[in-house]
Amino acid sequence: MNKKILIIEDDNKIVSFMSMALKAKGYSIVSARNGNDGILYFCTENPDIILLDLGLPDMDGSEIISQVRNVSEIPVIIVSAREQESDKIAALDAGANDYVTKPFSMGELLARIRVMERLIERESTHVPESVYKLDYLTVDSEKHRVYVDDEEIHLTPIEFKLLLLLIANRGKVITHSQISKEVWGYGETGDSKSIRVFMASLRRKIEKDSSNPRFILTEIGVGYRFADE
Ligand code: CA
Repeated sequence: MNKKILIIEDDNKIVSFMSMALKAKGYSIVSARNGNDGILYFCTENPDIILLDLGLPDMDGSEIISQVRNVSEIPVIIVSAREQESDKIAALDAGANDYVTKPFSMGELLARIRVMERLIERESTHVPESVYKLDYLTVDSEKHRVYVDDEEIHLTPIEFKLLLLLIANRGKVITHSQISKEVWGYGETGDSKSIRVFMASLRRKIEKDSSNPRFILTEIGVGYRFADE
C-alpha cells in the first residue's frame, strides 16, 4: 500500500518540489497551504505521515501538533527554517517525531520518512523486541545484559534506561527534555548537563570510538539520535 503524506506548508515552491520527489518515490500526496486546511485534511484524508512547516500564515506549527496529538500518534516531521531553532525544539517537545532544516536535501527527507515507516511497522506488529542487535552491539532488555563484540559490559541502571530509550526511538531525534522526562520522571531535574555526563559514560562503554560514535549521534542544541542502520 502506498503511504499517504500530508504536507502542510505555505511555500508553493517547496510544496511542488517535495510533492514531485515524493510522488516519484511512490507516495501519494495531499497538501495544505495553511494550518486550518492542514487540520481539515488530517481529519478527512487519513494520511500516514505529516510533513509540517512551522511558519504558517494562520497558526503556529506547534499548535497543530498539539491538536493532532490529542487524537493520533501519526508520525510528524517538522520542516523548519534555521531561524525557527527554538520553535523546532518546542515542536519536538509537543510531540513531533523528527525534523529537517531548510534548505534540506531530498535524500535527507526521504531517509527521515523511511525511519517513520519502520516505526509504523514496528508499532503495528506489537512484538516486543527483547534482544536488539546492531553491528557490534547487542542489548538484551529482558535479561538486562549488554554486549559489545559478545563481551558483556556493565551499565548503571540510568545508563541502561537511557540506552533502551534511545533504541526504542532509534533513527529519530530525541530532545533533552524528552530524555529527562523519560529517564528521570516528570518534575525531576535531568538537565542537559547531567544528560551529557551520562551520555558520555554510556558512549565510553558501548562505542569503540566515542569521539566518532557509531550508535549515539549528537544533534547539536537539540538532543540525540540513535543510529537506525
Ligand atoms: Ca512557511
